[in-house]
Amino acid sequence: MNIIMKCGHTANGFKIVDGKEIPCCIICECTEPSEDQTMVKKLDGREAMCNYCGHKTQSKIDLPFFKYKLNEKYDEYYDGCFGWD
Ligand SMILES: [Zn+2]
Ligand SMILES: [Zn+2]
Repeated sequence: MNIIMKCGHTANGFKIVDGKEIPCCIICECTEPSEDQTMVKKLDGREAMCNYCGHKTQSKIDLPFFKYKLNEKYDEYYDGCFGWD
C-alpha cells in the first residue's frame, strides 16, 4: 500500500469500518491518510534504518512498516530481523 498515514507510517493494514475496508496503520491505529501524499517523491536519496538492528537501506514507500521522518536523517522501517509476529 503506497498510502502515507497521518502518523507518518505507510498504511500497513486494513480496518473494517461500517463494512468497508479502509487502510490503516496497525502500529498507531491511525486510520487517517496524510493530506500530503507528495512526500513519496521526496524520498530520493534518503535512507531508512531498521529500528532494531540499525540496518540501512534506500528509503522506499513499500518497505515494511516504513515511516517517513521529515526532520531526521533516517527514515524508519523494519527489516524482519526479529521475525514477523
Ligand atoms: Zn503509525
Ligand atoms: Zn532489523
